[in-house]
Amino acid sequence: MINIVIFGAPGAGKGTQAQLLAEKYDFLHISTGDLLRQEVAMQTPTGLRAQDIMNRGDLVGDDIVVPLLARAIKNRSIHPDPDSLVDPWDRELKGDPHRPEGFIIDGFPRTVGQAQALEFLFGKLKRKIDLVVAIDVPREELVRRIHERAAISGRADDTEEVIRHRIELYDLQTKPVLDYYRVSGLLVSVDGSEEISDTNKRICSIIDYKISRTTPENP
Ligand code: ADP
Repeated sequence: MINIVIFGAPGAGKGTQAQLLAEKYDFLHISTGDLLRQEVAMQTPTGLRAQDIMNRGDLVGDDIVVPLLARAIKNRSIHPDPDSLVDPWDRELKGDPHRPEGFIIDGFPRTVGQAQALEFLFGKLKRKIDLVVAIDVPREELVRRIHERAAISGRADDTEEVIRHRIELYDLQTKPVLDYYRVSGLLVSVDGSEEISDTNKRICSIIDYKISRTTPENP
């Protein structure tokens, strides 16, 4: 199975699409926004450090988010029967490189440093990113959608000022990650300005194509 990063500005719909894709393809879905919100809800030391930063719409530091992601990836990669692993290094890691499910990662990486951290983490599990799907949505549509979501989400970071700041940070800090993946030939952009189901169809056809090209002989 392939591993995917789903990429897009706040309001682009990456969480919604990641969930739909996880159901359809049995991906292991990890959202760093959700992981952080869980930590905040449980008021863990990590959550306490992250909450003000998130409420301001700033990016949480790599020292917080990278270990959180590493733990989630490791937990989701645990082999059901670690003793059966032949390679002692795999046994030690208790990760299963042959586990069939791929990952779909949403909300990470948001900086080039995070992209490098993800490569390192996946490398340890003998995995790699196969595809980066960027969902393109015009600025005004992003703002409109987050406003709509704010009415039901109750998220403290869905206010006018914070929304603008999050989109600004996306342009400044997160967009360069697109170039990083463009250079490595992994990036595919899709139009995400229409209905959820339209965007989903577009992404599914890209994934189906990628899967058809990723055979065991042609990994
Ligand atoms: P959105 O894409 O709408 O901003 P997310 O749920 O992905 O929503 O993220 C919510 C907030 O969580 C971000 O504004 C940021 O403060 C924090 N966050 C999530 N992922 C990361 C990350 N990879 N690096 C730094 N901060 C993050």
